[in-house]
Amino acid sequence: MEEIRIDTTVLVIGGGWSGIKVACELVDLGYRVILIEDSATLGGNGLFDHLVSSNKEELSSLLAKVKDHEAVEVLVSTRLVFLTGVPGDFRVWLEQEGKVSEKTAGAVVVALEAEIVSLSTAYGFQAAENVLTQSEVEARLASGGAGDISKDVLFLVGLQQEGSPLVMERAIRSASEIQALEGCQAKVLVGNVKVAEHGLESLYRQSRERGIIYIKVKEPPKIKQDGSSLQIEVFDNVLNRDIKLTPDMVVVEEAFRPHPDATRVSQVLGIGTDSEGFFQQANVYYLPIRTNREGIFVIGSAREPRNLMHGWTDVGNTVLEVRNLLGEGKKLVPIERAKIHRGKCTICLTCVRVCPHGAIYWDNRAIISPVACQGCGICASECPMDAIQLVNYTDEEMEAQVLASIEKKVEAPQIIAFCCQNSAHEASRMARLFGSSLPEGLQMIKVPCAGKVDVDYILTAFEAGTDGVLVLACHKDNCKSQHGNTFAEWRVEHVGRMLEEIGLEKERVRFATVASNMPVEFVRITNEMEDTLKGLGPSRIKKQAAA
Ligand code: SF4
Ligand code: SF4
Repeated sequence: MEEIRIDTTVLVIGGGWSGIKVACELVDLGYRVILIEDSATLGGNGLFDHLVSSNKEELSSLLAKVKDHEAVEVLVSTRLVFLTGVPGDFRVWLEQEGKVSEKTAGAVVVALEAEIVSLSTAYGFQAAENVLTQSEVEARLASGGAGDISKDVLFLVGLQQEGSPLVMERAIRSASEIQALEGCQAKVLVGNVKVAEHGLESLYRQSRERGIIYIKVKEPPKIKQDGSSLQIEVFDNVLNRDIKLTPDMVVVEEAFRPHPDATRVSQVLGIGTDSEGFFQQANVYYLPIRTNREGIFVIGSAREPRNLMHGWTDVGNTVLEVRNLLGEGKKLVPIERAKIHRGKCTICLTCVRVCPHGAIYWDNRAIISPVACQGCGICASECPMDAIQLVNYTDEEMEAQVLASIEKKVEAPQIIAFCCQNSAHEASRMARLFGSSLPEGLQMIKVPCAGKVDVDYILTAFEAGTDGVLVLACHKDNCKSQHGNTFAEWRVEHVGRMLEEIGLEKERVRFATVASNMPVEFVRITNEMEDTLKGLGPSRIKKQAAA
């Protein structure tokens, strides 16, 4: 390990309440913060202010703190245009009213608030006094405008989009407030009640006890609107017939969309998004606030549709992660997990492109950041010049392990299984612990990530006389190195084609995925491989060597 100095400034992108809150908590810990907001004011879109109305004073004091604190630099009408470097030493370029300035930061927090879109038109409503969006009814209730709420109010939820807990929560809260008004009846026409959020199930149950009527349907309703007269026709699955509802007022759900600048910002930062464009990637290793790039975190509704309170739990997690990363400006890091032979490097930048953690930068040769490098070894296996070696997993060490694993005297089919340390290796340990029956000729080699398994290691195993090779990786979207399993699968396919060219069956090499807690699956895969190899007979190379 060596101690290195790192920048303790944190760049926060997005001046909504989550961005403001995280800035305040970071300065309390002694960090300097640059808070940028692309609009002209701080405070975000105010979407969930009503949920913390009792805390309005807290919001005001947070706002005052970021504006006045000497350790916070607030830049409005500003956007990030470029980022380079590594955690602890990022360089960022910010554009404010046409002028670009360069700054440095040790970590980055993305707090770009989602935007909301009305679905009234999608439902087929015309604009009318008694057709409200969810935001409009919330604003009316929050401002004490209960007098403007009609007696019979129908909420429409989850019928024009996949339901989400947040959309459901907003409808339940407003419906509950209306139900509490004298003489009012709230009904909720819902496609799918989504309550998978802390406390939402009980909120739903309480609302039913208060008399709110929920009608679950599968199809969007037929809308008839004539001035203020509303008729909603829908097929009721319980009654098994069409029903007609004639509410005085309807409240239509809203959709959440990623911040309009989210795609561009994700490209500048080199971090992934989900299929909708939110920053929460489908990978368990990144939950709740991490991204594929060390030192870049995402919070609040930048991650996924979340309300302010949930966004603030992200703030606590982020502060801990930042503290862990930046400490007090010094950090002990492994001297070198991966080494680059500068004489061999032709600066092709393959390693820069494949590194899932953004850990490689370059001057006149590639350089690996010891803070960001996670030691997965993908770069080492992809470098066309063999210029990168992973400490403890050098090509020499790996090939020596492969050769040592071939047992000449075993009669059963010999199988070399390269096991990712995060999944298959753990599954194999559990299988052994449970006394599971594993193939007699199975030898396992632990690798830091399946993405480290080089084509050469597999070919060496066949040359040395193994009958088959397994490369066992994490499931899709579960790889700690994001695409390590994909690289491994490509290489196995490539080796399969090579085997066919030299007259060996491609079935002798197989890629499979397994989770760390799936020993039964591990046993199944390895036994299946043994059966396949028994059917194929010994490898031709092995037979030639024996002869
Ligand atoms: S892949 Fe290899 S040769 Fe290419 S830049 Fe990286 S270290 Fe240099
Ligand atoms: S070992 Fe993995 S994390 Fe480290 S530099 Fe190479 S690809 Fe990036």
